[in-house]
Amino acid sequence: MGLLDGTICIKMGCFNCCLETEMPLTDEDIRRIVSLGYKPKDFTVFRGGLWRLRNIDGRCVFLGEDGMCKIYEHRPIGCRLYPLIEIDGRCVVDAEYCPYAYMISEEEVKRFCRDVIQLNRLLEILKEDSTYRELRFLRK
Ligand code: SF4
Repeated sequence: MGLLDGTICIKMGCFNCCLETEMPLTDEDIRRIVSLGYKPKDFTVFRGGLWRLRNIDGRCVFLGEDGMCKIYEHRPIGCRLYPLIEIDGRCVVDAEYCPYAYMISEEEVKRFCRDVIQLNRLLEILKEDSTYRELRFLRK
């Protein structure tokens, strides 16, 4: 049982991180979700140089009425890594917003912090990439 595999969130009935989400999406995230039959305009907004998850009435478009993610197996990489985030080049646990952040194990932090840093490097690159910005990678 861990925080990053979602078992604690499900057990506690918590979906705080799916409310008013600003989760950025990589090109692979968008491609994967589109392959499920969703259209980009239905689940994305472009803000701060990145495509991000869209909210409807303050809830992520993929958050079901039951508090479960409708695309859990295919959710964005940032959702998989949360509550690990990068601040000032360091991987930290977002204890301010995630009420169960204290339950993350040292093993999870060790195992996934590198992915958080890598994700943020990729997002910096994507910000400068017109193929990403214009969603041209979906036409390939
Ligand atoms: S994609 Fe799923 S896990 Fe990510 S914010 Fe939306 S509902 Fe939550």
